[in-house]
Amino acid sequence: MSRGDMAKPLLGHRSMEGDPSSTPAAGRSIGVLGSGDFARSLAIRLVCSGFKVVVGSRNPKRKANLFPSAAEVTFQAEAVKKTDVIFVAVFREHYSTLCDLADVLAGKILVDVSNNTEINHHKESNAEYLASLFPASTVVKGFNVLSAWTLQSGARDGNKQVLLCSNNQEAKRTVAEIAQVMGFTPVDMGCMSSAREIENIPLRLLPAWKIPVFLSLGLFLCFFTYNLIRQVIHPYIREQKNKLYKIPIEVVNTTLPCVAYVMLSLVYLPGVVAACSQLYYGTKYRRFPDWLDQWLQHRKQIGLLSFFCAALHAVYSLCLPMRRSHRYQLIEMAVKQAMEKKMNIWVEEEVWRMEIYLSVGIIALGLLSLLAITSLPSIANSLNWREFTFIQSTLGFIALVISTLHTLTYGWSRAFDENQYKFYLPPTYTLTLLVPCTVIIAKVIFILPCIQQRLLRIRRGWEKGRYVKFVLPSATGEFSSGETSSNV
Ligand code: NAP
Repeated sequence: MSRGDMAKPLLGHRSMEGDPSSTPAAGRSIGVLGSGDFARSLAIRLVCSGFKVVVGSRNPKRKANLFPSAAEVTFQAEAVKKTDVIFVAVFREHYSTLCDLADVLAGKILVDVSNNTEINHHKESNAEYLASLFPASTVVKGFNVLSAWTLQSGARDGNKQVLLCSNNQEAKRTVAEIAQVMGFTPVDMGCMSSAREIENIPLRLLPAWKIPVFLSLGLFLCFFTYNLIRQVIHPYIREQKNKLYKIPIEVVNTTLPCVAYVMLSLVYLPGVVAACSQLYYGTKYRRFPDWLDQWLQHRKQIGLLSFFCAALHAVYSLCLPMRRSHRYQLIEMAVKQAMEKKMNIWVEEEVWRMEIYLSVGIIALGLLSLLAITSLPSIANSLNWREFTFIQSTLGFIALVISTLHTLTYGWSRAFDENQYKFYLPPTYTLTLLVPCTVIIAKVIFILPCIQQRLLRIRRGWEKGRYVKFVLPSATGEFSSGETSSNV
C-alpha cells in the first residue's frame, strides 16, 4: 500500500463521527451468495440496517422461507446482476463452483467472509484464492471474525470490530461504510497480504493468555511439589505417618496463595525493571528487550490469574472446617486436653495473629477483586486515565503490601523455629516473600525524592548526555522551568 493510502482514514471523518445511516452505503442493494447460517444472519442484520438484500442460492425456492420477507431470495446469477457488493457466504471448497458467474461478477466487490479449520491451512489465504478465481472483481476480506450469532444479535453482543483488508482502497472504504451502518467498528488491516492473519484470528485460542497460564501452572507445580515434600513426604519418611489425605485440600490450599501472591508481585516487577533500565541508561527512548516488552504486555492476564488463585484459596479456606479429618483432629485435641486436665487453652497471641491474618486476607482479596473488575474493557473504558492508573497502580501496590502482611501474619515466627525446616527446607511462605519484598523495597526506593525526580524527568523526555530545556512540576505542584544539564 502506498504511503498516501496509509495516511488516508479508512472512513471519512464525517461518516466516522456522524450518523451512520447518512453514509452513502445506507439503503443500497447488497448481494449475499449462499443460504447457510452465516448468510441468513448477515441478511437479517443487513435488512435491519436498512439495506436491500438479494440472496443468491442454488435452490431459492427451498431456502426463501429461511430469510426475512424483506430479503429477495433468487438464483445466484440473478442476485449478482442486481447488486454491486456481494458477500460470498460459501466455504472455500465451493468457490470454484461459482466460476460460471465470473462474467457477471466482473467489476463488482466480493466480500470474502470465510474461515479455515486450521491456522495457515492453505498456501494462500481464502481471499487471495477468491481473487485469483475472479481477477476482474475486487475482493475485500472481512466479517469473518464475527460469528453468525453476533451478526444476528447485532453489535450489542460480542465483538464489535470488523477487520478489513483489500488491495483496493475504494472497495475497502465501501465495505467499511456498510459495516459501520450495521453497527460494527471497521478496522483497516491494510492490503490483501493481511488476509491470512485475519483468517487466523478466529482460530487462535486465547493467544494473550498462553504465557501467563504456563507461568502460573509452572509456579503451581513448583510450590505444590515443595509443599508435598514438607506436608506429606516428610512425615511419611521421618515418622511413618500417612498424610496422603492432605493432598486434595490442604496441599492445594497452601499452594494457591503462594501462586496468587507471587503472580501479583510479577505484575509490578516488570515496571520496576523498566524503571531501573530507564534510570541506568538515563533515557526513556531506549527500547526494552523483547522479554520485558512481552512481560509488560501480559500484566493484565497475570493479575487476573493471581485473582483467580486468591479466590480459589478463599473458597478452599472456607471449606477447611467441613473436612472429616478436621473434625477428628478437633475431637482428638479436646480429648487429649481433657485427659491432661487442661482447662484454659486460650493463647492471646495466637488469637490476635489469626484475627489480623484473616482480616488482611479479606481486604487483599477485596482489592484484588476491584483490580480484576476494573480490568474488564467495559469498566476500564468508563474510567479516565488518572482513575485507571490510581486503581491499577496505586491500589494494586497497596494490595501487594496487604498480601505481604497476610503472608507475614500467617508465617509469624515459624521462620525462626527449627522444627519448621523439613529436610532443611524453609517454610514455604519465606520463599514466596522474596519477589514481592524486592518489588516493595524497589518501589519505596523510587519514592525517594532524588530518584523520583530523576525518573520523572526521564519520563518527560530528559536524556543523560544532552542539554534539554524542560518544565518540571515542583513538589508543591507548581511548575518551574530551567536549563538542565544531562550530567546532573
Ligand atoms: P453453511 O451453513 O454450510 O452454508 C454454506 C452455503 O454455501 C450453503 O447454504 C449453500 O447455499 C452455499 N453453497 C454454494 N455452493 C455450494 C456448494 N457447491 N456446495 C455446498 N454449499 C454451497 O455455512 P456457513 O456457516 O453459513 O458459512 C458460510 C461461510 O461463512 C464459510 O466460508 C464460513 O467460513 C464463513 N463464516 C461462518 C461463520 C459462522 O458462524 N457460521 C462465521 C464466520 C465466517 P445454497 O444451497 O443456497 O447455494
